[in-house]
Parts: sequence; C-alpha cells; structure tokens
Amino acid sequence: MNLHEETVFFVKEESRFTSLVINNLQKNFDTGLYLEMGYANLYQYCIKALGYSEHCAYRRLAVVEMAKELPEIKEKLDRGSLNLTTLSMAHSLISSATPEKKKEVLKEMENCSKREVKEILATHFPSKIKPKESLRFTSGKEASLHVNLSKDTLKKLDQIKSLRAHKNPSMNYSELIEDMCEYVLKKLQPKINAKPIKEPKNPRYISVQLKQRIFKRDNHQCTYISQQSKHRCESKHLLQIDHKVPISKGGRTIEENLRLLCQQHHRYVDQYIS
Ligand SMILES: [Zn+2]
Repeated sequence: MNLHEETVFFVKEESRFTSLVINNLQKNFDTGLYLEMGYANLYQYCIKALGYSEHCAYRRLAVVEMAKELPEIKEKLDRGSLNLTTLSMAHSLISSATPEKKKEVLKEMENCSKREVKEILATHFPSKIKPKESLRFTSGKEASLHVNLSKDTLKKLDQIKSLRAHKNPSMNYSELIEDMCEYVLKKLQPKINAKPIKEPKNPRYISVQLKQRIFKRDNHQCTYISQQSKHRCESKHLLQIDHKVPISKGGRTIEENLRLLCQQHHRYVDQYIS
C-alpha cells in the first residue's frame, strides 16, 4: 500500500469511526446515560465528559438529531458521501422541512464540497439563511462577539444607554452590555431574608421566600451528582425545586428536604430514583 492508498484507507476508517460515534451518542441519548452521569444534556456530556470543543459537540449532536428521523444518514456518513460539516450546515435549515424535502436536499448534498452545499441550501431555503454570529476569544479575559441586531433592538440599546448615562456618560456597547448584565442579575437574584421560614400547611406550597433561599443555597445550579462519575450537573437552566423525600412518602417542605434540580434531572430522579 503506497502513501496515497494508505491515506485513502485511513480517511475511510475515519468516516466509519465518526458514524460509530454518532451511533453511540444516539444510544446514550435514548438510554439517558448522560443524565445518570450527571449532565443535564448530551451537549454538556460531549464537552465535559468526552472532551469535544463546543463546535465539535454541536456538529455531532446535529447529526444525532437528524439521524433519528433519517437513519440512512449514518450509512452515508460511514461511506463518506456526507460528513459532519455539511450535515451540521443543513441541520437547522432543514429541521422544519417535510421528510421528503429533507431526503431530496440530503441526496443533492452527497459528495459535495462545503461551498457547493452552501449553494444547495441557499437555493432550497433562501429565507432561512441567517447572518452569522461569531464569538472569538481575544485574550484570556476578553472575547469579541459579532451579532446582527435589528434597527429596533439597536434603538432600545441606545435608549438604555441614555437612561444609564448618569452612571457613565460615554458608555460604549461593551460597557452597556456589562451594565445591563449586572442590573438584570441583581433583579433576578434578590437578597435573601435570613429569618427561619415556617413549614407550610400544604406541603406542595413553596413560598417565594423559601424558593429564593433554596436557589441561593444551591448556588443557582442543579445539585444532581452522578454516583458513577461523581460529577455535579452544571445546568443553571430551568431549575426546579425537588423534595428529596417525596411528599407521597412523607417528605416535608423544609429547607433540608428541598434541593434544586434541572428539568431533565428532576424528571430522571422522579422516574428512576424516587
Ligand atoms: Zn441537572
């Protein structure tokens, strides 16, 4: 086998392994293994447990999602006629298309370059091509964020800038975003009253005050810890309050029996652990 033949062989193997990874990620999703391992979603699992970059994780999960509806994608990936780059480019654009349309577009995309795929997608979904957003780290502490705003949003930003001018009369957009983040977080994370809270008569009723205290104590983060990996879920999204000992088993609505769980782990604990 000469160098070229050997490279061709390895590229084929690379495609085959990519397809196997997609298959395993799909099984992981179907069985909920990522939840058991302490991750709120497969994306976090790919980054934290498998070491993929955000971009690499996104591309793989886009294909996992598409392969649920169109399992033949895996075979095309295996053969190398479609790849992670071209499939992830198509992912958000074809998601609302009919199965027939999806098949038609994917067929056209086979064995095409990234540029050719871009043209195919633009022909089929002209109104869906959104301007690109980009995030690039310029130093250890700073990043450059490129987003496209509507005129209306820009007008609102300038209005906020004027309203906050007493704080800094020459605020630039970066300072404005920082100021807005601080302001909004302060509003969303109110100060907690330290007085003891009475146990409610109705155990299903959790007062705002108690909710705030649990959120603060659990640091606004899901508290699920995997028995297997010892990893604590890092999700701060859609957090819910869970009774460690369920109300149905006599669990009380007191601080010690309450904890924060993300929606996915709440459902997982209810279904498999409680
Ligand atoms: Zn969680």
